[in-house]
Amino acid sequence: MKTKYSLGDVAYRVATSTDQWWDVCPDCIGQRKWFAVLPSGEELFFRCPTCERANESLGVVSEYEAGGSVEAVTIKSIEVISSDSLVSERYNSAYYLGDMYDSREEAAAALPAAIEELKIHLEESRAQSLARKKKDRVGSMASHYLRQERQALKDLDAARRGLAREAAKG
Ligand SMILES: [Zn+2]
Repeated sequence: MKTKYSLGDVAYRVATSTDQWWDVCPDCIGQRKWFAVLPSGEELFFRCPTCERANESLGVVSEYEAGGSVEAVTIKSIEVISSDSLVSERYNSAYYLGDMYDSREEAAAALPAAIEELKIHLEESRAQSLARKKKDRVGSMASHYLRQERQALKDLDAARRGLAREAAKG
């Protein structure tokens, strides 16, 4: 079967990439804590749930930026993949025919749309994750408050036992 490209040919593909970087957490402004004052005057601190990772608030959140470039690909292997409805070609075990271009110019022309598509995808998952965190804010604060309270009770208990030991000695 004749394939579009042959072994040794050079074709071009659009390679999109995601750069990750860190930005100051929009909710705690890098303070890593939320501070709340109850009407009774009691002051509470919570680890910021927005930038919390592995039980520690970091003060930063990850941001992603879509990028991309045109890559020249030398064809080293060709597979013809067929199912009931379609036949496609895969090159170098990774790239499908629909993503390959004859010239650098053609690939460059397709690049902005590919980056735009990735950008939309990144923005969607960012919005979803933010919405999830905002929805769970009250839950995060409540569980953090309970953890703090349990720890305070434990500390109190340990202090009491320490005092009792001291009293027994004296
Ligand atoms: Zn934060």
